[in-house]
Amino acid sequence: MDLLNTLVDKGLRRETPTRAEALAVLATTDDELLDVVAAAGKVRRHWFGRRVKLNYLVNLKSGLCPEDCSYCSQRLGSKADILKYTWLKPDEASQAAAAGLAGGAKRVCLVASGRGPTDRDVDRVSDTIKAIKEQNEDVEVCACLGLLSDGQAERLREAGADAYNHNLNTSESTYGEITTTHTYADRVDTVRKAHAAGLSACSGLIAGMGETDEDLVDVVFSLRELDPDSVPVNFLIPFEGTPLAKEWNLTPQRCLRILAMVRFVCPDVEVRIAGGREVHLRTMQPLALHLANSIFLGDYLTSEGQAGKADLEMIADAGFEVEGAGEVTLPEHRASGGCGSHAGGGACGSHDGAGCGSHEDAGCGSHEGGGVCGSAPAPAPAASADEPRPDLVAVRRRGAGTDLAPNA
Ligand code: SF4
Repeated sequence: MDLLNTLVDKGLRRETPTRAEALAVLATTDDELLDVVAAAGKVRRHWFGRRVKLNYLVNLKSGLCPEDCSYCSQRLGSKADILKYTWLKPDEASQAAAAGLAGGAKRVCLVASGRGPTDRDVDRVSDTIKAIKEQNEDVEVCACLGLLSDGQAERLREAGADAYNHNLNTSESTYGEITTTHTYADRVDTVRKAHAAGLSACSGLIAGMGETDEDLVDVVFSLRELDPDSVPVNFLIPFEGTPLAKEWNLTPQRCLRILAMVRFVCPDVEVRIAGGREVHLRTMQPLALHLANSIFLGDYLTSEGQAGKADLEMIADAGFEVEGAGEVTLPEHRASGGCGSHAGGGACGSHDGAGCGSHEDAGCGSHEGGGVCGSAPAPAPAASADEPRPDLVAVRRRGAGTDLAPNA
């Protein structure tokens, strides 16, 4: 396909595809899907080899958020039966982080529900970052605490944070349909604050909320312009008890096309599969490793993921390798700044970034809600790809905020 040859050439040169080319990737047929994966896989291997970076979520504070993000199980008025607890103590968070690091993660994502941190919250998180770094010198720490006020990003950086996550989530034109208590511009502002403070910006999206292909391309092009170092791609987990509970719009094939499009638009950026991996990609997860170079290990914020051991087996079986603590995630031209995978460099678009996710479920990307998919879901009858699969959504009942061991 001329389209795919063009996109590979552009990806290897870090050249931006046209909107029409990005839309064409989303419009490919199932017959063309393996060719799409192979093409985007060439770009992925050029910049990241066969390495897979593992990230580990620690939900510092769960539920009871005053914001109304529709996708989030922690939102105002959510009826989702998630764990609800206030701030973990630094030693509790450090213990949870240690489990993920022992399982192979090199980045810990500290997430808290809420509109944004108070200065007292920044103190708490700073103490937590220090506690984690005292025990694990090489760990990368990313904070995801919502909208930042002036000076807070700098304080987190001084405390040892390497990165900050705040997701754009969806296109600017549809943002108001997803959330009314803050704006798309608020989110962009926080990503820029993080970037300006010298934190590696992490910002991504949530697919499957009823958006159009144009919306998806819009948000990915906006991310390219903001130039985060990592882009988490969440696939909506339609949590019972949230307004989007009936939005089962994704198929594994659709998820692969979306990941391929993100890879072509942001070729040299850490593309991370976040929430919804197990629920929506299901048995196609290994193919997605040819597109993304980063995943979350174990559980999500409010939902359970497949067993950490199964993640590691999948990576090995698919012919990939877990990225070691001593390896730099980003290509050299981007990695000049910071902790391995961040700051610095040029990057895919321009820069100053958009911010991380929130705390949604999908990984630390945003701060919405829920975690994602179920954990090691029990075998279920074969289902057509776009059939609702609430049986795959398991509310997190272990790890942080419980007496049970974390999944890592
Ligand atoms: S995404 Fe974050 S800000 Fe929005 S409702 Fe969930 S926890 Fe609150």
